[in-house]
Order: sequence, then C-alpha cells, then structure tokens
Amino acid sequence: MDIERLARPEIVAMKPYVSARNSAAADGILLNANEAPGVHVADPRWRELSLHRYPQPQPALLRSRLAELYAVSEDNVLVTRGSDEGIDLLTRVFCRAGQDAVVECSPCFGMYRIAANIQGARVIDVPRQAENEFRIDFEKLERTIREQVGVRLVFLTSPNNPTGDLIGRNQLESVLRAAEGRALVVLDEAYIEFADENSAAELVGRWPHLVVLRTLSKAWAAAGIRCGAVIANPVVIGLLLRVIAPYPLSAITIDAALRAISADSKANQRAFVDSVRRRRADLYRFMSAFDWVTEAWQGEANFILVRVADAAGLVGWCAGHGIRIRDFSAQKQLEGCVRISMGSPAEMAELKSALLAYGEQL
Ligand SMILES: *Cc1c(COP(=O)(O)O)cnc(C)c1O
Repeated sequence: MDIERLARPEIVAMKPYVSARNSAAADGILLNANEAPGVHVADPRWRELSLHRYPQPQPALLRSRLAELYAVSEDNVLVTRGSDEGIDLLTRVFCRAGQDAVVECSPCFGMYRIAANIQGARVIDVPRQAENEFRIDFEKLERTIREQVGVRLVFLTSPNNPTGDLIGRNQLESVLRAAEGRALVVLDEAYIEFADENSAAELVGRWPHLVVLRTLSKAWAAAGIRCGAVIANPVVIGLLLRVIAPYPLSAITIDAALRAISADSKANQRAFVDSVRRRRADLYRFMSAFDWVTEAWQGEANFILVRVADAAGLVGWCAGHGIRIRDFSAQKQLEGCVRISMGSPAEMAELKSALLAYGEQL
C-alpha cells in the first residue's frame, strides 16, 4: 500500500527543514549553529550534558534503546515529546483541514479529538458499548472505515483510558484489513505494560498502515520528562519527521529517558508494574463491596473506573481528605463515573479510609 497517498499532498511535496545538527557531524569545532561555545552555569551537569549545544534531533542512542525495548528496528521509531506529540504529528500529516476525518471510539482519551479540532479535521465517533463492558462495536467501526469518505486516522487505545479494556490481536487485525488502502490505524498503547496482552508493535513490519504509540509516562514512571515513541513503517516515520520541530527533545530529556529505561531501572519497572496490578485488583474488590458503587471496571491499566450514585459528592469528599480522583461524570456514557489511579501503598491506605468514612456518612 502506498502510504504517501494517504498523507496531505503539501506535506509530501514539501522540502524538509535542514538543521545544523542533521546536516553535519556534531564533532570538531562547531561554528554552524550560532550556539555559545561554553556554559555559563557552574553546575557540572550543564557541561556534562553540553546544554550550550542544540541536542540531536533524533538522538541515536535513545532511538536504538527504544527500538530494543519495543523489539522493532530503529527506522521504525520516532522519539517524541510524549505520545501527545505523536497524536498531533499524525493528525497534521494525514488530515487535510475541512476534508479529512479521524475515527475514535468514545469514551476514550481526549487528545485525539483535540488534535483533530486544531487541524480542522472531522471527528467520527463510533461509541463503545457501555452495556457490554465498554467494548468497541467492531462491526460498526469497520463499516464506518469502509463507507465514510475521508477517514485518514483510526484511533484505538489498548488498554483504553478511562475504561481499561483491551483490543485483542484478532480484532486489531480485522480493523487493519478494513483500513487497508484507506486509513492509518493508530494503536495507543500508553498502558500496555500493565496489561495481560503483548504490545502490537512487532506488527508494524507486517502492516505498513499500523502505527503504535508508546510512552515513558506511565509504566516507566517518567511523565515529567516528556518522552514517547511513534512506532511505524519507515515511510510514516519519514513523513512525521517533515513536521516535527527541529529539536523536539531537550538534552535533559534525552539523558533522563536513557536513565529511565536503563538496565538498572528495568527491575524496578517490573516490580512496579506487578505492584500496580495487585493494587488495582485489591482496590477493585474493595470498591465493588460498597452498595453505593453501582458498577466497577478493573481494566488492564494503572487505574480503575467506578460508577457511583453521586460522583461529584465522592470527588468532593475525597478532595476534602486531600485526595484527588478524576470525575468523568460529564462525559457521554460515563454518568456517575470516576477514575482512580493507583498510588503508593500508603496513598491507597488513605484512600480506603476516606472511602470507608464516605460510606458511613451517606
Ligand atoms: C496518558 C496517556 C497518553 C499521554 O502520554 P504522554 O506520553 O504523556 O503524552 C497517551 N494516550 C493515552 C490513552 C493516555 O492515557
């Protein structure tokens, strides 16, 4: 399939910006980027990280470590400022304003719609089935992809935020078949490390129109550094490179990302993921026992979703105890729903006593 045919023609025709760092080696005497020759700050870290220099546009070592981590080749990886940037780049490259459309399955992550709105792309919603564990209506989704004109991106999330459900391999491949020659399928795997399912990243070799989004923000405990990856066919990566900022990642981020996924932190990461899964099961059991909790979804991510009689009341009560939980009750199909992230054992203990006290005063 010719992926370039799906991209905006003006992006395909455009000559990409050539920066100092991607047009020449970064060694020797560097007089080609209008930088300062040395740092002004006494902190030795500034010199170690060469913070007076522009960083590598796509840092080679980090790209290769991420490729290793996600078991794909380096040319399948674009390092980004979190997956939010991946969503934005894809929408800008593949959707013509006023003509093209993205498909989402609500309730889902809000950034797909925001990126589409900013770009002037239509949003076609194929709502999830609340009565069926919020599963996607795959028949309807595939029909929409085949029949609606102008669909360029299909956003899928596995596990989904905020419902926590997974997309199976067969379902994904069936959506990929429906989208072949028509649209890219963007599988957002922000929470996949917490799930009982392997990443679909390895499938990008087989499906040129599959894009997988990964991030260091959740299971790698590094939301503050802003680092994620788009995993896709090299043609897609090449198109996104035309639109991405010349130096998207700061040298500080690049250094921190390498530390976050280093061999040393991998053992911590595995233990963390296991503990989150245990806390999730525990909180799910704990909350399901309350009669004021009408429904609960354990999900496969680092949060649970519950439906309660009075969401605003519960969120307010928790806030009164210094605990912030997320109110989703204003969203379609999520009336009365709140999402609770897994914190530390001490934080979960505080949450539980606040919940017990809430029940008692009802
Ligand atoms: C948290 C989240 C992200 C954001 O990831 P960043 O890498 O921090 O930008 C992406 N997708 C979903 C579904 C999320 O919940």
